[in-house]
Amino acid sequence: MLDRAARLRQLSEVDQDLIRLVQDPHFDRWLGQITATGGCAHPIHLSGSTTTRDAATGEILHHYDTRNEPGERLLIRCRNRRATVCAPCSRIHAGDTFHLVRAGLVGGKTVPADVRERPRLFVTLTAPGFGPVHRATLDGARCRPRRNAGACEHGRPVGCPAVHDAGDPLVGQPLCPGCYDYAAHVLWHGHAGRLWKAFTDNLYNHLAARVGRTRSGLRRTVRISYAKVAEYQKRAAVHVHAVVRLDGATGPNDPPPAWATADVLATVVRTAAAAVRLRTPYNPALGEHELRWGTELDVRPLRAFGGRESLADDAVAAYVAKYVTKGAADTSAGLDHRITGPQDIAAAPVSAHMRALMGSCWRLGGLPELEPLHLRAWAHTLGYRGHILTKSRAYSTTYTALRTERADHQRSGAQLADNTDVITDAHWRYVGSGHTPGAALLAAGIAEDLFRNREVAREELTANSGGALGSG
Ligand SMILES: [Zn+2]
Ligand SMILES: [Zn+2]
Ligand SMILES: [Zn+2]
Repeated sequence: MLDRAARLRQLSEVDQDLIRLVQDPHFDRWLGQITATGGCAHPIHLSGSTTTRDAATGEILHHYDTRNEPGERLLIRCRNRRATVCAPCSRIHAGDTFHLVRAGLVGGKTVPADVRERPRLFVTLTAPGFGPVHRATLDGARCRPRRNAGACEHGRPVGCPAVHDAGDPLVGQPLCPGCYDYAAHVLWHGHAGRLWKAFTDNLYNHLAARVGRTRSGLRRTVRISYAKVAEYQKRAAVHVHAVVRLDGATGPNDPPPAWATADVLATVVRTAAAAVRLRTPYNPALGEHELRWGTELDVRPLRAFGGRESLADDAVAAYVAKYVTKGAADTSAGLDHRITGPQDIAAAPVSAHMRALMGSCWRLGGLPELEPLHLRAWAHTLGYRGHILTKSRAYSTTYTALRTERADHQRSGAQLADNTDVITDAHWRYVGSGHTPGAALLAAGIAEDLFRNREVAREELTANSGGALGSG
């Protein structure tokens, strides 16, 4: 007979850890903490206390201290937006994004419901071509048919007679890496933020010209708000999906003048995007590059009550929310972590195309003229250094407001009267992060349960409301 200690030693590390956890007298409270983080995969551990006093009498109204918590610590969410890093937190982030985008479309969360009646568009701006790539077709058409298929200067065929489906690893890869303009691709990513800025500047300028006003005169009557999300295409070039809304001068509470219609806005979006031209600084090795948006531009009106070619508001919000959970690595475009040198690029588990893009970032990042683009620091995202989601100030609510709302909701057990003046004294410090192997398993189970419960609740809601929400 083995004694207890010997039997324990035969168990795997995870099993031993699980036994340790469930035998801990604090186990129930610990499970409560994990549940409160939604089963976060990499929680932050904090130690400290918060004391709330009545400002007038000094009476302690509420006191919380981690001294009585398991391990004398409190676990909080990592809040990572990427599903590959933390699935439960990424789902919460996607949910917040959905509400943030949706509020800008239909109102709610401090945004008036009138925004539904405003001119609103769903716009997709693309990158230009940097060289032919293999492409998937829906109708069984050939990739790049060429009647007199010759070869490029590198001896590679200039056409491709194959039919690729979307899962073909060749899709998005250049026909000839030697002909592909890697420098232009990376420089375009490095300037994507400025290209967007130039586009929004043009929106005002073109709208002003159209109605015969000065830009500042126009700004006294209208304001253009947006929320946009960046997505990597198969060829690893970023394109931008944006909700664009036209309000009166002060924003969502203010209707625009009658002449400001969705059709006028759509026309101006097209001309504003087409007119953007930026020049990179001259460099002896690269010359000068002209940067612009791609000619593939999609502009669709969002109409208040449906109709042909209009998109449902919820479908658009869900579509945008889906992209924020993806990192560069999820779309096989880049890596989730920074690159420290060419050896990282050589070792990266990515396609030759991606490796060439990272290599170009590293090489161009060493040129003094291009220093402001920080291409080496952003080589893992192929030179693109923007946020995945950005919005103008007046578009809608903020992530911070949504988090506060959630925190207030969860804290409802310790609600204080609104009319009491209180002083809050808080002392917190970081004491660690992550889970032990057994805890990671339990947290994943809790995350899965919470996710399923929400799915069931959503299905019931959908069934009761008599229609499915679009999920993009
Ligand atoms: Zn997390
Ligand atoms: Zn092909
Ligand atoms: Zn070639």
